[in-house]
Amino acid sequence: MIFVTRFAPSPTGPLHLGHAYSALLAHDMARAAGGQFLLRFEDTDLERCKPEYTAQIINDLTWLGITWDADPLMQSDHFDIYNQSVSVLTSRGLTYPCGCSRKDIAAALAAPQEGAPHAVYPQICKARSIADRGASDALRLHMDLACAEISGTNLSFEETGDLKKGIYPIDKTYLMSDVGDIVIGRKDIQTAAYFLASALDDIRQGITHVVRGVDLFDFTQVQVLLLHLLGHKPPLYHHHLLIRDDDGKRLAKRDDARAISLYRREGASPEDIRSMVGL
Ligand code: GLU
Repeated sequence: MIFVTRFAPSPTGPLHLGHAYSALLAHDMARAAGGQFLLRFEDTDLERCKPEYTAQIINDLTWLGITWDADPLMQSDHFDIYNQSVSVLTSRGLTYPCGCSRKDIAAALAAPQEGAPHAVYPQICKARSIADRGASDALRLHMDLACAEISGTNLSFEETGDLKKGIYPIDKTYLMSDVGDIVIGRKDIQTAAYFLASALDDIRQGITHVVRGVDLFDFTQVQVLLLHLLGHKPPLYHHHLLIRDDDGKRLAKRDDARAISLYRREGASPEDIRSMVGL
């Protein structure tokens, strides 16, 4: 079977141990399978993403011995493609404009939901028509209508990673009550939000196996739904366990103390990094 995978960092900080593990694992899997390893910078958030981080990530990956088989894809060069897909969903009546700020949303949520990690959007703007879209409005997906479009299908995805392997059916109840009407188009940053851009690029890059951390597992259902609505077959997914620090806490990008560049400055070798992440 052809094996094409990728590493898709958002260049909002330096490469840390957790990223290095993800990149090395995907790269090793591609090389072992005689397949391809591709690189994609998810740099659609123009405020938080910085070219110097992109350069440093490339430098660190090269130092780790990682090679990629095509020029890296920069998402910020392709806003038109993501917007086209948002327009397709909009023309089918699956989106609505929303100008709510985080504060509006927090105020509308009932007390028990406050502070929930993934607050479900309380549908304040759901009745608005697309014709009223203002310059600073985002576009949200009508999750109920999107789910109605897949009723009668057995939409699912295959998981091959560190979690329970097998076929995971898309759960409409979960999507409607736990995910809700997500933002898929953001006027302020000119593009589709992460879910759509990332899923679309997996198709555009011909990815057969998405190798990424289990922290992204819950997004898979949404991405498979969006791909299906746009007529695409999902790749296979391989979610790996996360690298944790000595206290068992997940390494975040903010945790610059674990940046690969720092280990490099302290004299670590690529082999040291491999053994630190258990490879
Ligand atoms: N850009 C995402 C991140 O840096 C990863 C997206 C993915 O691998 O699907 O967390």
